Order: sequence, then C-alpha cells, then structure tokens
Amino acid sequence: MIYPIIGLGHPTLRKIAQPIDKDYPELDKLIADMYETMYAADGVGLAAPQIDLNIRVVVIGFRPYDEATDTYGPESEEHTFINPEILEFVGEKEYFNEGCLSVPGIHEDVLRTEGVRVRWYDEKWQLHEEELHGMLARVAQHEIDHLEGKVFTDRLSALRKTMIKRKISDVVAGRFRTSYRMKMNKK
Ligand code: ZN
Repeated sequence: MIYPIIGLGHPTLRKIAQPIDKDYPELDKLIADMYETMYAADGVGLAAPQIDLNIRVVVIGFRPYDEATDTYGPESEEHTFINPEILEFVGEKEYFNEGCLSVPGIHEDVLRTEGVRVRWYDEKWQLHEEELHGMLARVAQHEIDHLEGKVFTDRLSALRKTMIKRKISDVVAGRFRTSYRMKMNKK
C-alpha cells in the first residue's frame, strides 16, 4: 500500500518520534509499505513521520554508486532502521545536495559529517552498531533528523534560509506539483 506523504507545515513532521517494541502491530506490513511508498515517489529514504506515523522507523534504499566505473549497481541496497540512535559523528564535514519528499521542489547543499556511528534494530530485531559512510551515512543522518522533528532546510545557514523563504512558504501553502500523492496540513 502506498501512503500519502505529508508536507512541510504538517505538525507530525515537527514531533519527536516515539520508539517502538516488537509488539508493534503489523510491523512487517508497515515496513513493506514504507519501501513501496518510497520507491513510488523515487525517494532514497523515508521516515515514518513522513507518512504521519509518529514512530522511530526509517527505510533507506538506493542503487550503490561505483566511482571506479561511474555506474550504479543493478540492485537497490536496502536498510531498515528501527529505533536508530546516532552514537557519534565521524570524519570531516562536507556539503551534499539534498532534497526531501516532504519538501518538494527544494534542493540545497547541506553540511554533515561524512560518517556516522549508529545503533539500530533491523526488521528482524537484530541489534546493529556500525559506522556508516558515504551515501548511506548521508541518507541515515537526513532520515534520523526526521525522527527528531527536523527537516534538512533547518540545517541551512541563516542567509540561505532567507534566500529560500519564498520557496518554503510555497511548499507550506501547497503551491507545488509532485508525481506522488501528498497530504497537507488542514488549516
Ligand atoms: Zn526527508
């Protein structure tokens, strides 16, 4: 099932998401639906708050890029994070151009560390504690921000925020088009 994605301005995107336990109802179905929703919208990551669920579940999926051959792998590499926690930011900070399914039409360079050490449960409730790097570290940081009620535009400089103020208010007002279904905040 494909969920509608909520947009900037919806209050759920600003809440701290709650951890879940193994008794969470139909978790396998929810995770499968989150992947389906993410791929249908051409995203590389989706956090449960983006489908209006205030819980700490994230899915990530993208075809790995091979710098040596300048090609993308045939299969999407998938990672499910349940109750993820960032333990440490690792390496140098660098800029990378980010977008977000909840903030359509806006792409901005965001400064984050290259690596990050994360502890999480996977969909089989196996505990992981790993240092992530590259694209996975980037997407994980973006998605875990969603669980803290943050979106990537919060991380821009004051100047940059001022420059895109108009675009942000267009998103909040629902003045945009997407190829996927969105649910906006009802005033
Ligand atoms: Zn996002």
